[in-house]
Amino acid sequence: MLTILTLPVLNDNYIYLVHDPVSGETAAVDPAVAAPVLAMLKRHNWALTYILNTHHHSDHVGGNLELKQKTGCKIIAGFSDRHRIPGIDIAAREYDTLSLGKHPIQVIDTPGHTNGHIVYHFTNDSLLFCGDTLFVMGCGRLFEGSAEQLWHSLQKLKSLPAATRIYCAHEYTQTNGRFALSVEPGNQALQQIMAIVNQLRAKHEPTVPSTIAQELVTNPFFRENSPALQATIGMTDKKLVDVFARLRKLKDSF
Ligand code: ZN
Ligand code: FE
Repeated sequence: MLTILTLPVLNDNYIYLVHDPVSGETAAVDPAVAAPVLAMLKRHNWALTYILNTHHHSDHVGGNLELKQKTGCKIIAGFSDRHRIPGIDIAAREYDTLSLGKHPIQVIDTPGHTNGHIVYHFTNDSLLFCGDTLFVMGCGRLFEGSAEQLWHSLQKLKSLPAATRIYCAHEYTQTNGRFALSVEPGNQALQQIMAIVNQLRAKHEPTVPSTIAQELVTNPFFRENSPALQATIGMTDKKLVDVFARLRKLKDSF
């Protein structure tokens, strides 16, 4: 069993530490900053083996060089981001299989938020580290790619096993949920999850992980085929990718 630690940093970022007690290997996912990672490694007496970067934004790679210098870890990121990831050692291509100890990690290309964005699927452990592509009840903004690209990327994630646990890189859940309710006010699963989310956030606790199953019933960006949602935003019987693009636009100004 892998141990996963969630480190809240900056305003609303999460860094994840994934530790395999069998091999002793440890990975840090999207280390925005180095200090809290170093402190946690020290506290648990873990050595850092890898950094897994999902994309090049500074709130995901800001701790790379310091961590590499102080721990000797190897830095992994997407092949098409290889020119803009500080300290990159391994440029991973889609469907390359990496591993943490004996735990396989499949790389999936998810362009949209940025062109080189990738996600890490721990296939045997049902874990997905999805950076800024998929959020709890939301998805990433379009900084470099098109709505169509991001929609295709999300289709790949949507088809992962329902029990897959979702670890995204930001705590945006409450705002995402408010938007979700605005486009699908009658969604009972959404109302129930929002009640739980509001309780967690009142205590400043993380709302991650979610699961693919939970996103399928609550996330509007996974629910562009919902007739109720389509009706609310005036997109009944439109192409799904166009419904998705409209949702993304609405969320941008929510
Ligand atoms: Zn980003
Ligand atoms: Fe980010």
